[in-house]
Amino acid sequence: MGGGFGERARLQVPAPRSDLSEPEPVVSELDKPKRDLEVPGDWTYASAPESRDIVRIAERYGHFVGGEWLEPAETYETIAPRDEEPLAAVGQGTRADVDCAVAAARAAYADGWSSLSGSERAKYLFRIARLLQERSREFAVLESLNGGKPIKESRDVDLPLAAAHFFYYAGWADKLEYAFPNRRPRPVGVAGQIIPWNFPLLMLAWKVAPALACGNTVVLKPAETTPLSALLFCDVLRQAELPPGVVNIVTGDGRTGAALVEHDGVDKIAFTGSTEVGKGIQRRLAGSGKRLTLELGGKAANIVFDDAALDQAVEGIVNGIYFNQGHVCCAGSRLFVQESIYEPLVAKLQRRLSTLRVGDPLDKNTDIGAINSAAQLEKIRELVASGEQEGAEIYQPPCTLPEKGYWFAPTVFTNVAQSYRIAQEEIFGPVLSVLTFRTPEEAIEKANNTPYGLSAGVWTEKGSRILWMAQRLRAGVVWANTYNRFDPSSPFGGYKESGFGREGGRHGLEPYLEFDR
Ligand code: NDP
Repeated sequence: MGGGFGERARLQVPAPRSDLSEPEPVVSELDKPKRDLEVPGDWTYASAPESRDIVRIAERYGHFVGGEWLEPAETYETIAPRDEEPLAAVGQGTRADVDCAVAAARAAYADGWSSLSGSERAKYLFRIARLLQERSREFAVLESLNGGKPIKESRDVDLPLAAAHFFYYAGWADKLEYAFPNRRPRPVGVAGQIIPWNFPLLMLAWKVAPALACGNTVVLKPAETTPLSALLFCDVLRQAELPPGVVNIVTGDGRTGAALVEHDGVDKIAFTGSTEVGKGIQRRLAGSGKRLTLELGGKAANIVFDDAALDQAVEGIVNGIYFNQGHVCCAGSRLFVQESIYEPLVAKLQRRLSTLRVGDPLDKNTDIGAINSAAQLEKIRELVASGEQEGAEIYQPPCTLPEKGYWFAPTVFTNVAQSYRIAQEEIFGPVLSVLTFRTPEEAIEKANNTPYGLSAGVWTEKGSRILWMAQRLRAGVVWANTYNRFDPSSPFGGYKESGFGREGGRHGLEPYLEFDR
């Protein structure tokens, strides 16, 4: 039994090295540095532009009503924010145009769409989803051209999610009885839908897909600055052979939106946009009996605890506020950092900012594209100036902005007090305000100190703390150790001045249904 020790004792132990200097590393011939080779010193990215010719833009567009193009009485020019190039003349919808569109939607509703079986409606939605996938490159180029967002975002986020939404709601169309057992769901009627410019096609998908799945017909007004992807979508509807009048698109500015809201033939309004306009719509519809859902602004808190994986958190912070130039209602625009890690985190963040590439939205290497419009750029500049005046410290990495078009460098404000406008108001641009906290209770108090309640982020390695925080944050969506993650099966919407009603998931069907009991 004891023989084992004897065996071990006989093992050869290497003699201790008397010479403690580092041994010569073994380097193969191939690995030896070739001193005479030129090593490039400049590692900047070469441009990798996506072809603009993938998409054909007409010179002039009318309104899409009853499956046909209605000649507009008036037009305006839509441009590319990257260089202010005029792209097309687009209809400025009048009350008469809205009237025609609502009549077409009503006729299509009565003519069979509302009584079509769920499985038949689903077939159209599946077709639309597949066509969006097939034509995704074309749509991605158009979205970046007209909206200014980087092509890698429209290609990898907007388009896949828009198609996924149609797939998802196609799946519900014939299962509404199971989604709401014993409640006999039926469609609401004609839905008026008004969408913003930050995710033009994706917001269209969020609105149109559940409405059609539930058997409603639609009149949709895209944002004034980004109508082109909605107009190209009309061609997808033609390919999918959707019955005429089921989806109608009337372009124009806020006046067209107001005409749609006020139209007596509309049964439901679904609006995404600013809190100010949303409140006006709510006032306007009070007492009218029309159904309403509002998805409004936000001023989300992104909260980083001292036990979080800092590099991962920095990526999440960058994604949270600089994704889509910060034109995101759920953007993590208020960063709350636990005091003990404030300095290393801000240093890492500033270093990461200097690697972001700002430039041509059609370049596949671009991280931050163009600001959507001159008006939005003006608003960002005004709020940033207020931050400096009120005493916050501004950091912008050195970057050369193109001369033409609308551009704003990624910006971080430190030394921010909760009362500053940049900590209170929605900037809707690539501008982050950094604040600090000491305890979880303080983080909750500060995070909830806003009229909004759309989203929040929590970064910590403790699962129990994530749950503790999520229960106390007054936000419709709380992300943990990630940010800006979307899935069609997950409901999205706000509290307080961020609106009411949910889009996405089974909850997203409810606003488009009436129940007998
Ligand atoms: P708006 O709320 O003005 O626009 C949203 C949509 O509503 C657009 O289609 C718009 O048309 C339309 N609209 C405007 N006025 C009326 C009205 N009286 N009745 C009905 N529809 C109307 O947002 P903006 O585009 O002007 O952006 C302003 C601010 O709103 C941003 O800085 C941002 O803070 C916030 N915002 C929030 C969004 C979100 O997702 N929560 C999205 C976009 C903006 P038109 O395009 O012609 O103005």
